[in-house]
Amino acid sequence: MSFLEYAPAPESRAILNLRDEYGLFIDGEFRPGRGESFATISPADEKHIATIATASEADVDAAVAAARRAHDKTWSKMSGRDRGKYLFRIARLVQERARELAVAESLDNGKPIKESRDVDVPLVAAWFFYYAGWADKLDYAGLGPNPRALGVAGQVIPWNFPLLMLAWKIAPALAAGNTVVIKPAETTPLSALIFAEILQQADLPPGVVNIVTGAGATGAALVRHPDVNKVAFTGSTPVGREIAKAVAGTDKKLTLELGGKAANIVFEDAPIDQAIEGIVNGIFFNQGHVCCAGSRLLVQESIHDEVVDRLKSRLSTLRLGDPLDKNTDIGAINSREQLDRIRELSRIGEEEGAERWSADCVIPDSGFWFAPTIFTNVQASHRIARDEIFGPVLSVLTFRTPAEAIEKANNTPYGLSAGIWTDKGSRILAVADRLRAGVIWANTFNRFDPSSPFGGYKESGYGREGGRHGLLAYLKGAAA
Ligand code: NAP
Ligand code: MG
Repeated sequence: MSFLEYAPAPESRAILNLRDEYGLFIDGEFRPGRGESFATISPADEKHIATIATASEADVDAAVAAARRAHDKTWSKMSGRDRGKYLFRIARLVQERARELAVAESLDNGKPIKESRDVDVPLVAAWFFYYAGWADKLDYAGLGPNPRALGVAGQVIPWNFPLLMLAWKIAPALAAGNTVVIKPAETTPLSALIFAEILQQADLPPGVVNIVTGAGATGAALVRHPDVNKVAFTGSTPVGREIAKAVAGTDKKLTLELGGKAANIVFEDAPIDQAIEGIVNGIFFNQGHVCCAGSRLLVQESIHDEVVDRLKSRLSTLRLGDPLDKNTDIGAINSREQLDRIRELSRIGEEEGAERWSADCVIPDSGFWFAPTIFTNVQASHRIARDEIFGPVLSVLTFRTPAEAIEKANNTPYGLSAGIWTDKGSRILAVADRLRAGVIWANTFNRFDPSSPFGGYKESGYGREGGRHGLLAYLKGAAA
């Protein structure tokens, strides 16, 4: 036991006003689903939270029909200024109910409350505020002579940032005048359903946003629906590929935000204290369930031992446990399936000869947990250096020269993000220029802002979300 222990500081669940059962949100109201309903659980203790409806193909059809009616009769007829007012109203309601949303998100997803409270939910509000400001300015932003909405957007999102991914999808779509049918991930539908209540509170016209819960089949029915004009997907590269095939040959517009295997490059002249914090934030934030996570640490050989030693001592101070405790740094892994995948890839890492070190933390008896882990002696050919693990596992590789760092960083089928740590501004620019990644952070990592476009190269997908670029994906006749 260390000298100063932390007393438990759990955030109260009393602020939640959950229903036992949630229906689908179609045409402004909740209604039962025709598929077989399922339970959403807390990954921290495997306890039941609520029963959730599954949207069948017929339900998806009803949701798309509601979105079409709302688009043709209401939303596309409304002025940009009026659309903006609704978006501002939603943003303010998210702020008002921020604590409730953060508790729900941590409960359903397993992420630490300090992250949902200080990162996810504030960014959700920021995204709606930002795109609210765009709604009445589309004609003046160099988006082409007559930028118009595409129509109905079908959107499918993953479980790692449930409410934030919803905001990334819905805010630009509505600002541009589209209506939406969105499918949250099966393991994390809760915050989207509370968001549906916020839409009712905001008096958003019925059908402008429809939320259809369910598993992969519901998502597939949505992206295949013939009356959807735009498909936006965030998730894994294999499912992204399937969706690209399903959409090929139709006139649907498509954006794909897929996986990543980002390099976080630390040069010997980097400010080491900051770099250590940045490496930790890069891969252990949100249990490493981050598409742009800095999962490959490329460290200059001369400082390798120092960096690894300091990382180990820093990781030994991280607190793993109850996601609702305000002191928790590492929460629960989102699902048993994801935990099995992390375990399997880590086992392969050891088998292939990399050296494994895991922080010595107490793992709770129930729920899904994985201690922060570092692999050293990793070769570029190892699975743990190539595959996206999507968990709290860092693979450490070394380099000697900037050219070698760049070559190793780009040696991946992905291209979503990268990080550079160095004291020299000129080196930041020279290296960034040669990295094939959509987002590059310098002397920081995992920073997000609604005005900054985000998206990938290669197998990380195409299209950009955020900023003015994020509007292009939702407009007809828009010029980049
Ligand atoms: P996933 O299995 O691809 O699932 C993503 C979403 O697609 C879920 O809602 C899923 O439903 C649904 N889905 C599954 N099969 C489908 C199909 N055939 N047609 C349509 N929808 C389908 O990915 P995940 O495991 O949830 O998320 C992790 C992945 O997302 C990682 O690879 C990560 O890198 C990526 N990601 C990327 C970004 C980015 O911006 N680039 C951001 C976050 C995450 P169910 O969940 O109900 O099965
Ligand atoms: Mg859950």
